[in-house]
Amino acid sequence: MSLPEYTILSSDESTKARLKEMVNSTLDAILSQVNTDEAYSGIGPYELRKKIEALKVLPDRGEGFEKTLKTVERDILPHLLRTWSTSYMPHLHSPALLETVAAELIIALYNDSLDSWDQGPAATEIEVRVIRELCTLFGYGKDSDGVFTSGGSGSNLSATIQARDTYCSKVLKWDVKKKGLPKEWSRMRLYTSEISHFSFDKSAHILGLGYDAVVHLPVDDHMRIDTAKAEAIIARDAEAGLLPFMITATAGTTDYGSIDNVSELRKIADRYSMYLHVDAAYGSGAIMSDTYRSRLGELSLADSITVDFHKMFLMPISCSCLLVKNRSTLEAFELHADYLNREEDEEDGYINLVGKAIQTTRRADALKVFIAFSVRGRDGYGRIIDRVIENASYFYSRLKDDEVFITGPEPELSSVVFALRDGDEVNKKIRRDLMSRGTVIGQTVMNGRVMLKFTLLNPELTHEHIDELISTIRAYSL
Ligand SMILES: *Cc1c(COP(=O)(O)O)cnc(C)c1O
Repeated sequence: MSLPEYTILSSDESTKARLKEMVNSTLDAILSQVNTDEAYSGIGPYELRKKIEALKVLPDRGEGFEKTLKTVERDILPHLLRTWSTSYMPHLHSPALLETVAAELIIALYNDSLDSWDQGPAATEIEVRVIRELCTLFGYGKDSDGVFTSGGSGSNLSATIQARDTYCSKVLKWDVKKKGLPKEWSRMRLYTSEISHFSFDKSAHILGLGYDAVVHLPVDDHMRIDTAKAEAIIARDAEAGLLPFMITATAGTTDYGSIDNVSELRKIADRYSMYLHVDAAYGSGAIMSDTYRSRLGELSLADSITVDFHKMFLMPISCSCLLVKNRSTLEAFELHADYLNREEDEEDGYINLVGKAIQTTRRADALKVFIAFSVRGRDGYGRIIDRVIENASYFYSRLKDDEVFITGPEPELSSVVFALRDGDEVNKKIRRDLMSRGTVIGQTVMNGRVMLKFTLLNPELTHEHIDELISTIRAYSL
């Protein structure tokens, strides 16, 4: 078969056939390796680096697809992490539901972009529609809006920008967009849990406020912000002339899955005209569960909510959004360019989403949400979420009365943190040993001790598997 040189999809039958052939041979290469439950081949960084170093990245003459695929199959695929494995549980890093992989194929092939309507008509309308549905799902009213972002960190950054701009405009009567930071900038303070995601510290740096603008609030025994202490700290700071402008609550902390009390934090925020954001990058999935939804509390009291679909919702990276209670706060990102989003077009009904986002070119990630939601419905998603939360609760119940273990807080979502009493070294060794045998688990520090961390996002994980893991780890006890 003679092929046009550039192999770009066209109405020409030969390029269609070529695409099918490439997709099929890629799938064959992947599927031939899916024959074990190990999450990783087990080889260490030096050995892997040597293999990768030996690859030619830009040969003088192209090697063609078939030969390149062989190389990938031999040297790369075996050492990719197999996120679908039930032996993979260290991070908030999920396997992908198969229908969302099909969605990725559509997104990649069409390659629509969400900056302007003419770059993605249906992609734009689907994002708008999905965002509207999500706003309702999370309890927001008719003034709400939102935008898909690059991830939870991007959503948190967007929220922090909005909080700064809103506070400066309302309280300091200052237009940050036009004039930059106000002269009072070094007194501005953002309050967040001591175990919240580091993206708030990063955001403070990016925003020109610096790490010193971030106050880390102490947590209680359940790893939730201690709201009485929070209130006292903020009152003290305000009295000292500092300017509290934002509180972030976390609905599902990265390590423990603990959930801050949004209603209490709302009261404090209101007292000081602060913006309240909920980082629900992790916990947002629980909204799908009739049994566990109430654990999230009143998320809709917040001015904005971070939702990650590449965690509990089991979608391919990246897929995340920021929902806002009042659409006017998204105006922080609005800017008009003659070549892209002319105001006259918007008056005629063309929606240009670039005005809501930090990014310009942006993938049609909302399509993954549309497809997965449609495939599963609320009930199907609810079963996934119930399953992973119940697995964590089973895991914890097996550890808590066993004297060889120290346990973290009782899981509210799907994370279990614990350690053998025998000290940091043995716990570190357990994690390394398991990794070399293809089981990948996490590690963190709680009250100065090294702890093992299990983030159970895969609904295929069974109680038998959990029992096995516990006895493997238990065997390390002296
Ligand atoms: C994962 C996580 C983030 C960061 O999200 P990304 O999608 O990785 O950028 C933020 N906050 C919390 C609580 C998280 O668990």
